[in-house]
Amino acid sequence: LMQLSIPLNFIGFVYREIRQGLTDIEQMFDLLEVEAEVVDRPDAVELVIDKGAIAFKDVHFAYDPARPILKGISFEVPAGKTVAVVGPSGAGKSTLSRLLYRFYDVQEGAITIDGQDVRGVRQKSLRAVIGMVPQDTVLFNDTIAYNIRYGRTSATQAEIEAAADIAQIGGFIKSLPEGYGAMVGERGLKLSGGEKQRVAIARTVLKSPPILILDEATSALDTRTEQEIQTALDIVSQNRTTLVIAHRLSTVIHADEIIVLKDGGIAERGTHGELIDRDGLYASMWNRQREATQAEETLKKVREND
Ligand code: ATP
Repeated sequence: LMQLSIPLNFIGFVYREIRQGLTDIEQMFDLLEVEAEVVDRPDAVELVIDKGAIAFKDVHFAYDPARPILKGISFEVPAGKTVAVVGPSGAGKSTLSRLLYRFYDVQEGAITIDGQDVRGVRQKSLRAVIGMVPQDTVLFNDTIAYNIRYGRTSATQAEIEAAADIAQIGGFIKSLPEGYGAMVGERGLKLSGGEKQRVAIARTVLKSPPILILDEATSALDTRTEQEIQTALDIVSQNRTTLVIAHRLSTVIHADEIIVLKDGGIAERGTHGELIDRDGLYASMWNRQREATQAEETLKKVREND
């Protein structure tokens, strides 16, 4: 039996290596596919950024023509302001950020930045001015320093560390035995969702773009992580035009405007205070979330007393 088990282990090892290789290739194709969705027009021009004002004008979009997702959405993110989009799961919140970053093109209406339709500009120039903090950041199988430096490859080690500190992840990195040299990703240290998001924020700090898209992680984070991320975001979104796609509501309280998306349209809009006073969909989502959080905390206390 011994004689058999060694080759089997070996086969297992080889199998895992091949699987990993395939996963990397799949991820690469995913990226390529995203690139291939939208092509620059032959007459596309460079985006000229002034202050970075964003406008969605009567935007219609469907992944599948049989099922429209956005049915005429209009709102603006004034330069330097923060607008948060909330709404039920599947309402099309993340879709708005994908359209702005131009992973897809709108089917009717337009999205403009400083008055320029994003369909008429070169994607490279568009993406150069947008910092995207996605729900789930893909990390490279490399050091954590490399993964942060990706935001601006010319950054020095001191700049990387300053960015990590702003993103509230510096302390965590320093606590690792190998510090900034620690390997992360599939074959290294597995970071939690909240840690990955802070690495993405650190990248964005290095990139320092005039426009920021934050697609909040859907998964529940513990209160401390959530606060750390909130602090990081408050700093990076200062004086930047920011679109927050909020899957939880705690991050939207200070937004200049909140857009409540439902059934392909805007159900409500206003500040947190205005929407609470209105006592509509947002207020009921807010109350439900608060009750859930309170129930969780009570449960935790009960467990601690056991
Ligand atoms: P959540 O809060 O759950 O993340 P969301 O409001 O961000 O939801 P979107 O990710 O924008 O929702 O998706 C809107 C709808 O479009 C969903 O019903 C989703 O299943 C569908 N959808 C998203 N991406 C694709 C895609 N690539 N192809 C087809 N349908 C898609």
